[in-house]
Amino acid sequence: MPAVILKKGKERLVHSKHPWIFSGAIEKIENVKQNGETVVVKSFDGKELALGAISLHSQIAVRIWSYDVNQKIDEDFFSKRIQSAIELRNKIIDYNQTNVYRVINSESDLIPGLITDVYGDFAVCQFLSSGAEFWKDKIIEILKQKLKVQNIYERSDTDSRSKEKLEERIGVLSGNEPPDLVEVIENKLKFLVDIKSGHKTGFYIDQRDNRKILSDFVKDKSVLNCFSYTGGFSIYAHSSMAKSITNIDSSSTALNILSRNFSVNDYSSDKVENIEGDVFNVLRKFRDERRTFDLIILDPPKFAESASQINKAARGYKDINLLAMKILNPGGFLFTFSCSGHITQELFRKIVDDAAIDSGRSVKIIKQLTQSADHPVLSSFPEGLYLKGLVCEVV
Ligand code: SAH
Repeated sequence: MPAVILKKGKERLVHSKHPWIFSGAIEKIENVKQNGETVVVKSFDGKELALGAISLHSQIAVRIWSYDVNQKIDEDFFSKRIQSAIELRNKIIDYNQTNVYRVINSESDLIPGLITDVYGDFAVCQFLSSGAEFWKDKIIEILKQKLKVQNIYERSDTDSRSKEKLEERIGVLSGNEPPDLVEVIENKLKFLVDIKSGHKTGFYIDQRDNRKILSDFVKDKSVLNCFSYTGGFSIYAHSSMAKSITNIDSSSTALNILSRNFSVNDYSSDKVENIEGDVFNVLRKFRDERRTFDLIILDPPKFAESASQINKAARGYKDINLLAMKILNPGGFLFTFSCSGHITQELFRKIVDDAAIDSGRSVKIIKQLTQSADHPVLSSFPEGLYLKGLVCEVV
């Protein structure tokens, strides 16, 4: 059987149940014929420790499937893992109110490399690793049976695929091609989603719980939604009686869908202003014009794509947080986020603390936020927690 033999002492990595083995921990690889196939992971002295998928081109050389070395890694194995991911969602999603959710969250659902998001009648998959790619056909069959969704679309157009030397793939895996915009409901609000070319698999599903929390803060408030994308937070703000909503995004395509999201909910756009521009510049302009808001949302894209970009990213986060604090009315609220995995919760807190000091305002953190419940974090996989947020009162 194909095997990966670890360097001396590295078996502790497997004992910690972290699902990754980096290439630096490997002494030798034996009998591997195909990228992504199942290997047995052995200690230096030959003890069998786990089964995993080999990635021949990535620094993450093995992603663990099971710590039971007698487990058969086959269709039935994936069927059970997928079933247990679905059962978690059955417990946490009210499908009468929400038909857009993440049903399989890769490592944290014990299926490393597989993301599956549901958008009404469509499922969208990302096969991020060689192991997930190896089992793709079987996984698609299981999803068709278990999700009761016949239309499956692939959005394997992520950076992680290039690290695995896997080609980008976008297209229909099963059933019908999605329309240009699919209509879904989230907490009974309607959203149009571009599955085929929107960000991620089309929508920032991970912010659902935070959008709901925002609803409690917006009544009669002037709201500034920075990095609005298609208006996730803005639709909630309107539905909960915000006084006005100003959206900033650099993408005209996103703002166009945002406007359509207002229409599809039968919301008037009277109190809505859309600004196509760079948030850094627009916030500076507002500061110079002394234009202020009661509530500001900062949900920027990932500023740190790698560990080497942490310092630059930290400066970016500090910049926008400082500007936002300066243009908040006294007693206003800041919803501030970072989705960079490389920026830890502690560092993000420090960035916001530093911005608070420089702003000369008194800032109280009143809530700590994270990704929605359908994006679980496996306890042995801290990297799974990437979305961090703070709600601050700025006095
Ligand atoms: N809050 C959104 C998701 C934000 S995604 C939601 O809940 O759906 C980040 C968005 O920032 C993207 O729409 C992207 O177009 C936009 N963006 C990236 N850099 C920007 C910049 N410098 N200025 C303005 N918008 C930017």
